[in-house]
Amino acid sequence: MISLNCGNLTIEGKSIGGLATYLRVKELDLIFDLGRCPISFIGTNHVFITHFHLDHYFGLPIYVSQRWLSNIPPGEIFVPEEGIKQLQNILDSIAKLDSQQIWNYHLIPVKIGDRIPFRRNLIVHAIAVNHTIPAIGYVVCEIRDKLKPEYHGRSGSEIAKLRKAGIPITNQIELPLIAYLGDTQLVSMDTHPLLSRCQILICECTFLLPEDRQRAKKTKHFHLDSLTGLVESFNGDKIVLTHFSQRYSTHLIQQQIEQVIPDLNQRSRIELFI
Ligand SMILES: [Zn+2]
Ligand SMILES: [Zn+2]
Repeated sequence: MISLNCGNLTIEGKSIGGLATYLRVKELDLIFDLGRCPISFIGTNHVFITHFHLDHYFGLPIYVSQRWLSNIPPGEIFVPEEGIKQLQNILDSIAKLDSQQIWNYHLIPVKIGDRIPFRRNLIVHAIAVNHTIPAIGYVVCEIRDKLKPEYHGRSGSEIAKLRKAGIPITNQIELPLIAYLGDTQLVSMDTHPLLSRCQILICECTFLLPEDRQRAKKTKHFHLDSLTGLVESFNGDKIVLTHFSQRYSTHLIQQQIEQVIPDLNQRSRIELFI
């Protein structure tokens, strides 16, 4: 299991193209995709599935059954709405086969454009990505209260008085923390106004070599050719690259990234999840 520190957030898990992708951000109590389910992920309460390719959701039966067996209340599992019925059938069939019972679980359908609160101070935006089957990317934001400009410069006691009098002195703002795109060809930063400002962007980078360009196009995966453009258009701190094809060695991955992003400053913004 990999553990990557990105500022105040830690990304744990694994991601190998076609085999399994599962990422957890413990500080936010969330999991992005669940291609396998390590036992340490069972207690995490929110799961965001991007699409129904097996390497992104096949850990769900373990997640659901282990919580059920341990009497932990069902976690909230967010899934693209197109596949929710089939997923329900799959989970129920496996449960019947396993224990002749139905597990208790909580699936929440998501469609592009949704804005979903999922913790007291966190919301997620479901954004469009570009893959071979219906797929969703997620932009997670923290909700913060910000003092309205007209009250700037007031003393603490004045602010307290206004607050006590019930005068609305703050606006809510959304602070974009982390975006996870799942499997996708290049996504424009224009897809969502908060995307380019996220602290962390987790993006797949399945294919690297020139001879894999056609395959990337056909299977709608990200190719290294698009990385320079992505780095230039993203204004946040870190880009975490995941989902590299199994055929590439760690050495080849590092070498290819160095070639495409020779500038050390730019490259220090990139983390390889390998
Ligand atoms: Zn995949
Ligand atoms: Zn896929």
